[in-house]
Amino acid sequence: MAKRTMMEQHAEIKAAHPQSVLFFRMGDFYELFHEDAHVGAEVLGLTLTARDKSSGTPIPMAGFPWHQLEEQVRTMLSSGRTVAVAEQEDELREGATLLERVVTRVYTPGSLYEEGLLQDERASLLAGVVEREGKVGLCLLDAAASTATCMQYTGEERWSMLTDELLRWSPSEVVLRPSLAGTEPFLRLIAELRGVVVSQHDGRRKRGRERLMRALGVADLGHLDLDGSDIALEAAGLATDYLSTVLHADVELADLEVAHQHGAMVLDRTTLRNLEITQTLAGEHEGSLVAAVGRCRTAMGRRRLRAWLLRPLTDLDAIHARQDAVASLSRSSRRLDGVRTALTGMRDLERLATLAGHGRANARDLVATGLALDRLPALQRACEETDDGLLNALGEGLDVLSALADRLARTLVDAPPLSVREGGLLREGVHDEVDRLRSIADEGTAWFEAYEERLRRDLEIPSLKVRQNRQIGWFIEVTNTHLDKVPEDFHRKQQMTNGHRFITPDLVERDQALLNAVTRSRALEYDVFVDLRRAVADQARTLANLAGRVACIDVLHGFAVVARERRWCRPVVDEGDDLVLEAARHPVLEREPGFVPNNLRFDRKRRFLLITGPNMGGKSTYLRTAALVTLLAQCGSFVPCDRAKVGLVDRVFTRVGASDDLLRGRSTFMMEMIEVAHILRHASPSSLVLLDEIGRGTSTFDGLSIAWAVTEDIAKRIGARTLFATHYHQLIGLEDDVHGVVNVSVGVAEAEEGLRFLHTVSDGPCDESYGVRVAALAGLPRDVVERASDLLRFLEGQATGARAGVHGQPSRRAQGQASLLTYLGASKPASAPPPRPPHEEEVLARLQEMDPDDLSPREAAEVLRALVEHCRGERDG
Ligand code: ADP
Ligand code: MG
Repeated sequence: MAKRTMMEQHAEIKAAHPQSVLFFRMGDFYELFHEDAHVGAEVLGLTLTARDKSSGTPIPMAGFPWHQLEEQVRTMLSSGRTVAVAEQEDELREGATLLERVVTRVYTPGSLYEEGLLQDERASLLAGVVEREGKVGLCLLDAAASTATCMQYTGEERWSMLTDELLRWSPSEVVLRPSLAGTEPFLRLIAELRGVVVSQHDGRRKRGRERLMRALGVADLGHLDLDGSDIALEAAGLATDYLSTVLHADVELADLEVAHQHGAMVLDRTTLRNLEITQTLAGEHEGSLVAAVGRCRTAMGRRRLRAWLLRPLTDLDAIHARQDAVASLSRSSRRLDGVRTALTGMRDLERLATLAGHGRANARDLVATGLALDRLPALQRACEETDDGLLNALGEGLDVLSALADRLARTLVDAPPLSVREGGLLREGVHDEVDRLRSIADEGTAWFEAYEERLRRDLEIPSLKVRQNRQIGWFIEVTNTHLDKVPEDFHRKQQMTNGHRFITPDLVERDQALLNAVTRSRALEYDVFVDLRRAVADQARTLANLAGRVACIDVLHGFAVVARERRWCRPVVDEGDDLVLEAARHPVLEREPGFVPNNLRFDRKRRFLLITGPNMGGKSTYLRTAALVTLLAQCGSFVPCDRAKVGLVDRVFTRVGASDDLLRGRSTFMMEMIEVAHILRHASPSSLVLLDEIGRGTSTFDGLSIAWAVTEDIAKRIGARTLFATHYHQLIGLEDDVHGVVNVSVGVAEAEEGLRFLHTVSDGPCDESYGVRVAALAGLPRDVVERASDLLRFLEGQATGARAGVHGQPSRRAQGQASLLTYLGASKPASAPPPRPPHEEEVLARLQEMDPDDLSPREAAEVLRALVEHCRGERDG
């Protein structure tokens, strides 16, 4: 067999991991070669050198010392790449002349469980996506918590629903089979999920299924597949198979949830963004809903809170159970204290369980596990004392691992070293042999001291020393002046400038015994530790289950704390489709001084609230408040209201603002219409729809007509509870025309200095568009404001008929968009539109209506120009 060179070895490994940057272990360094070396220089700032410099084709190379591995992996991952690490074996394989190197781990952003690599409390989520037979399956796997959720979608909208779900969780990595990678729907999906790493994995269906069963420790998946979740499970299989491939280890899953398409409130991507649930539009945590209600004491709880807020329930029983728990806790500060004390400072059991499961926990991790387990009986008691069904159930049996906790506490010292191979892990009395060897080691050191004393005395060399170093071990050092007193049986070992070093059989024997004792006791300690770690690993599934329950208790406790602190009320959540809020506050803004609470009412007669009022009046805030209160209510939380009644909402839709879409570089109007189309297609009578100024992105009349038609469609056909903030005052007449439409408006007071926003919302339209007034407040030059006021008065005078309702509603679609002037002039009743007069007549009619004395010269010129254009348009068209 021809000898393999190291570079051939490298090439083989690289060929097996073409998508990753390869860190190749050579002695104390990790080296990167070829293209990887250039990447290393660019991303990690490594110095680029070359291997085989003398040869004709030097190989680019860059490297770093082994102890920087974690840091360099982290940097490489954050550049959007993945890293394969090839370690060097300790011993030559038989017949080999080169140390073998094997890949022990591929680091990808979705497979991280190492605490040092996880950025913040957010999980490292891996998404598996599969498509077959017109269905798409999705699995979201949290490698650090060892939990997964999977779901599937069918029908025309399957990809769009899948995209919404992915955007809700924002995984760091998506894995799919190569056959799906180039397809159109997938490419579109990836464009939405900016920055996600896409990995391909050629996982067979059968292998995925087997892998999944092994991970769950079950012999069959039938119990999960009761009502057709085959594709969802296939996605879970793919994700699990991929994960164990990159980890080079078996994966254990504590939990796999099969979520149903209709099991939770659906929040599409726009809604998630606009309601600022996990982050603000500016991308910050502070100011988000999560931050506002976040009172969790543990990392597990914080993760769970996110998950709950992103997936409000639609199951009444489950919502009521959570509410009962929150009520029971918030009623009593003693109970709250009990739970809080038990939770405070508890380390992240979910991650510790995973670390142990992967055999990666060190002694400190095990100590932390023990300490966390120690807290659980107290938590259990605190839960029992609440007399609440859900808390009792969550608390039941939290102490199942107390024996393990005991064993951990009894075995390991309080503050063990990081390294698990250098001893110092075990308490005294744990292991007889370790104790014995330790005392030999201790005595050993004392023996050398005594030996030194004795030699000094016997040989009469006061300067004689017994010392040790790495090369010789223990030795006797004598200066040149006393060399003649050294006995025969001293064996000369080393010559120094001013003396000699000797060893004796006694010394060697003792040295060996001491060395053996230390080595042996370290090895024994390591064995005991590994046993202990295995015992913890065996309980990984139970640990993860406990962690999950702790997380739920933590979230419920947090809800109770917020409810108490901020005097939130328990909402009545029922099957109806009302939404009645008294003194509702925005959960984030309510803490600002001067926040004004408002009422809101949807019932059978009020389905569609048309909100008018000046900019800055509080319309958008009112919309968001309605949605956030609903969302909190369906999470089981109390809500920022004095009283609240929430009929279950199946989906929240929003079309709010336009600012952030500009960032996405799409035509705002197009975006807006896509989203409105989405709403009209998917909203049901149980949905909650927020429309904030739709129609802005186009010409006034386009926009007005669209807003008008959309209002009619939602109110008449769908009947979803809808809040529509609009600047189209022409729409207020719809109240008389369409059942369910009701006008409300934000209050404004006239103050000396101008307008004052009251931020109150009350029934009735706001007739005046305060735009010009607001412009004045904003400091537009005075003559511009005056001119604008004149023009406004003029235009309003012209447009008296342009109101929805009794006046001027076009009755036939075929008429299309009226031209500006006819539209402004269309003051005839809508019921029976007269045949359109020839334009000459119309012009005459318009002229007759006018009083030239009322017009300024410029206004007159304006009217004239409009009339001329109208005539031309009529002729040309
Ligand atoms: P609009 O959508 O009508 O332009 P916004 O909802 O954006 O108005 O609110 C404008 C400003 O008024 C914001 O700074 C907001 O914080 C404040 N605001 C809104 N609602 C209230 C309220 N109920 N109480 C106090 N301030 C409010
Ligand atoms: Mg607004």
